[in-house]
Amino acid sequence: MCRLLLLLSIVFSVPGFAYAEFDYSMEARAVSAQVYAIITPTRDLPNAENGGWNSNSAFVVTDAGVLLFDSGSSVGIGHAIRETIARVTSQPVRWIVNSHAHGDHWLGNAAFADSVEQIFAGAGVAEVIEADGIGWVNRFNAMTGGITGNSEILAPNRKVEQAAELLFGGVPVLMMLSGGSHSPGDLMLWLPREEVLIAGDVVYSDRMPSTNAGDLKQWIETLAELKQLQPRVVIPGHGAVTDVSGIDRLHALLRELWLAVEAGIDEGLSDFEMQPQVSAALAQFRPFYPGLDDKLKRDLSHVYLQVEAAVFE
Ligand SMILES: [Zn+2]
Repeated sequence: MCRLLLLLSIVFSVPGFAYAEFDYSMEARAVSAQVYAIITPTRDLPNAENGGWNSNSAFVVTDAGVLLFDSGSSVGIGHAIRETIARVTSQPVRWIVNSHAHGDHWLGNAAFADSVEQIFAGAGVAEVIEADGIGWVNRFNAMTGGITGNSEILAPNRKVEQAAELLFGGVPVLMMLSGGSHSPGDLMLWLPREEVLIAGDVVYSDRMPSTNAGDLKQWIETLAELKQLQPRVVIPGHGAVTDVSGIDRLHALLRELWLAVEAGIDEGLSDFEMQPQVSAALAQFRPFYPGLDDKLKRDLSHVYLQVEAAVFE
């Protein structure tokens, strides 16, 4: 986004918070009779170019209201999501699911404060949001040149501690936990009738996943289980809408990563020393996962410690 447009941005002042107007050009794409995906075109982290909108959302339209999965990196993005939903249905957003505690998935909650009744999240997520919510607000403001603004923090009020099938306006939705695969408290939705998996950051379809907050061994197991569901449609937390092939490829990538690090440890190499050969072992995945080498540089030390702990278990 050019500097001039930034200067022309209007700052709205709503009691409690402020946000800059930004044209996010969102679209709701129907993936089944009742499920829609809102997919960000960017594969980057929040920045001034993308206005902070770097993660996907999804929503389920029912006769009794809308269930929204993830609300974006700011209250301004939440408002853009709200307008996008309003172009599809006049039903209000009554329920929100926050997939995990990273700020790009829940900071938009406050845009639905007047209609939302329940905000679901995995165990521990609400506590992290309450403790570090303001940290995410500040981080994203620094990354976007202030575009994401001072979002009010609206934390989850319903804790999900085990898988549960719930009905939303008569639509069966299975809430599933990942065992901390990508990050502690990851929550996913499976809609058995529509065969749609809304995966949050447990699935990245075409961007290298962040593995620094997760449990890689658990993640590999979780992806194997998700494949068994044979979803017709998979809405990832980052990247384009995919199907079971997207899960399959990510499963292969993470398994290959694990094996390459294990081989390096067997040779007595440090994380830094093994990086070139780990990168080479993942070469076949590079075209599908932009940012692979940058993420590897950042995350390899975490992965190394996890594999090392498993090897010497
Ligand atoms: Zn994310």
